[in-house]
Amino acid sequence: MKSVRILRPGVVRLTEEEIPVPKQGEALIRMRRVGICGTDHNIFRGEFSERVNFPLRPGHEWSGEIAALGENAAGYSVGDCVTGEAMVACGKCPDCIRGDKYACRFRRSVGTVNAWDGAMCEYFVFPVRDLLPLGGNTDLDAAAMVEPASNALMGVEGAGIRVGSTVAVMGTGPIGLAAVAIARIYGAATVISVGRSEYKLEIARGLGATHTVNTKNEDAAERILEITGGLGVDASLEISGAETLFRAAIKSTRKQGSIVLIGFHDHPITLNLNDLIFPLFTIKGAGGGWGGYAPKVLRLMDRGVLNLDVLITQRCTLDEAPGWIENLKTDSARTVKVMICG
Ligand SMILES: [Zn+2]
Ligand SMILES: [Zn+2]
Repeated sequence: MKSVRILRPGVVRLTEEEIPVPKQGEALIRMRRVGICGTDHNIFRGEFSERVNFPLRPGHEWSGEIAALGENAAGYSVGDCVTGEAMVACGKCPDCIRGDKYACRFRRSVGTVNAWDGAMCEYFVFPVRDLLPLGGNTDLDAAAMVEPASNALMGVEGAGIRVGSTVAVMGTGPIGLAAVAIARIYGAATVISVGRSEYKLEIARGLGATHTVNTKNEDAAERILEITGGLGVDASLEISGAETLFRAAIKSTRKQGSIVLIGFHDHPITLNLNDLIFPLFTIKGAGGGWGGYAPKVLRLMDRGVLNLDVLITQRCTLDEAPGWIENLKTDSARTVKVMICG
């Protein structure tokens, strides 16, 4: 079968591998959709290299069909459509036995660091414990968007967004745009989407952004303060990974507001910590998207409350995937989510 492997930083190839056999408690999944994530591109470029075991098979945003089941894999049948958590728990440690797999210290992320082999191939195995069944109204495209949407939901909940909140979402990638939609579902009255691609800001407006700020020609902090009558927003979600936008969040979040960090920064930032004391900010990290967010996202999608189809801007085949991983950022103004279809 075909399998995409990042052999080492700078080298990604389509390779030929044996179809794996599901062990006890595992399912064999036939890949139907895999989203290409910025993280896949960053691993290709050599980021996180000290924590990545090469050759790495990426693919943590996926949906597929069960092709076979190993022993003790109850609860699923061949032909079922599923997606999965972005992590695989060990199933044996005290936390797993207690039923809190999200606390598992031995968990492996899927397709990234310390990885369980990802989904960029024709067939892969996955523990049934970490599978999520699709409801009758959730299609394969939507299910492959559950992982980025789970990160967005984790950020929105972490920021304490509720009815009437004012929110700034820095960044217009898949997680940022999903966060715009989810902040509205949570009842935010003002959702300001901040980015530098007019094409993506238009998508943000379609998903419920009440205001957009294009940093190519506007100062983010200035505009956010203007929109909120000088007060600043209740919560800022920093999903861009841009230092300038993190600094803008510090300037344009209201006193006692919260700043949630989701986007990876490619360099350390020097801060004057004194700037954080009197604003009484809560600064929080939200990453991984695991912790029960994926099942919630699936319910929102299945009931028609959350629809992120508009984020799929390109489609490709498995054969074309290595090229996309290499060049993901080339036309970044118009690329939100590239979806591999199997
Ligand atoms: Zn991702
Ligand atoms: Zn465990």
